[in-house]
Amino acid sequence: MQPRLIIDLNAVAANYRLLRVKAGPAICAGVVKGDGYGIGAEPIAKRLYQEGCRIFFTAGIDEALTLRPHLRDAIVYVLAGLCGAKPVDFSAQSIRPVLNEAGEIREWAKHEAGNCILHIDTGMNRLGLPPDALKYVEGLKPDFIMSHLANGERPDDAKNAEQKAVFDAILREFPGIPASLAATASIFMGQGYCYDLARPGIGLYGGNPFTGRPNPMQDVIRIDAPILQIRTLAKGETVGYGATFTAGGGERIATLGVGYADGFGRPFDNCGIGELDGYRVRLAGRVSMDYLTFDVSNCPENMLRIGKFITLLGGPVPVDEALNAAKISPYHFFTGLGRRFNRQYISD
Ligand SMILES: *Cc1c(COP(=O)(O)O)cnc(C)c1O
Repeated sequence: MQPRLIIDLNAVAANYRLLRVKAGPAICAGVVKGDGYGIGAEPIAKRLYQEGCRIFFTAGIDEALTLRPHLRDAIVYVLAGLCGAKPVDFSAQSIRPVLNEAGEIREWAKHEAGNCILHIDTGMNRLGLPPDALKYVEGLKPDFIMSHLANGERPDDAKNAEQKAVFDAILREFPGIPASLAATASIFMGQGYCYDLARPGIGLYGGNPFTGRPNPMQDVIRIDAPILQIRTLAKGETVGYGATFTAGGGERIATLGVGYADGFGRPFDNCGIGELDGYRVRLAGRVSMDYLTFDVSNCPENMLRIGKFITLLGGPVPVDEALNAAKISPYHFFTGLGRRFNRQYISD
C-alpha cells in the first residue's frame, strides 16, 4: 500500500493563467527548476506549453536538455549560467544561459552577442554581476536584463523598493533592452515590478508566495496515505521515537504508510494535520522514516479500517494550512517530496 501523490495539472494551468493576467502586459515565463519544484518538470512544462507559455527557466543545463525535446519553439534559459559547459553546448540545443559573472560573459560574448540574459545583482548577493561591474558587458546584447528580489515574500519590506531603484538605475544604462525582476510574489505587488518578463515558480505549483497572508494560488498537489494499523492506548503509554506523545488513556492511534523518506520531515513532529472522511485528525508523536502516527480518536469507529486513506495535504486539507501547521515553506516541502509515492497526474 503506497501513499498517493495526486498532481492536478489543470490547477497548474489555472495558476499560470492567473499569474499571466496579473503580470500582463509583461510576458509570463514558467520556472521549472528542481524537477518542477519536486512535482515533475516534464508533465508540468508540457502543460504550461499547452497554455501558451513559451519561456522556461531551469537551474542547470542538464534540466534544460531533458525538457528541450518537449518544448518545441519555446526558449529555455538556464539560471546557473554556463556552469562549466561550453557556449556551443547551449547554442546547438537552442538553450540560452543567464550570465552571472564576468568570466562567463566574456566567454559567451566571444561566441555570440545575444541569446542570453544578463543577471545583475541588486542586493541578493547570491548570483549576478554587481552593478558597478557593467564594464564587462560591453558589446553584449542580452534578450533581457534581470535581477532577483531577496524579500519578495514580504511585499511591504523596504528592501524591495531599494532593489527596484538600483535595478531602474541599471536599466538606464541599457536603453531598449527588456527587463525581468518579478518572481511569483512580486507579480502580486503590481505592475511596477513586472517589467517585460515575469518569472513565477512556486505559484504555478500552488505554493503560497507570501508568509502570513491568504494563498492566492490553487492547490496542485494532494497526498493521501494508507492506514496500516490501528491501536488503542492506555493512560501513560507513549507513541514513537523519543516518546514525545503520552496518552491520557483510550486514544486510537492509526499508523500511516508515509514518513520522512517521503518528505514529511521533522517539522511535522506532533504538528501534522490530516482528514479522514470529514474528520480532522492530528499527528501524534515524531515522524519516522516510513510511518506517521495519527490520533484518530475523534473518528467514528466504523471509519477506522486498515487500508483506508487519510488525506495529509490538498483536497479537504488546504496545502497552505498543512504546511503552516508544521511551519515549513512550500519550497522546502515540495522539493523534498520522495520517490515512493504512487504519482498520478490529473489533466483534461
Ligand atoms: C527560483 C527563482 C524564481 C522563481 O521564484 P518563485 O518564488 O518560486 O516564484 C525566479 N527567478 C529566479 C532567479 C529564481 O532563482
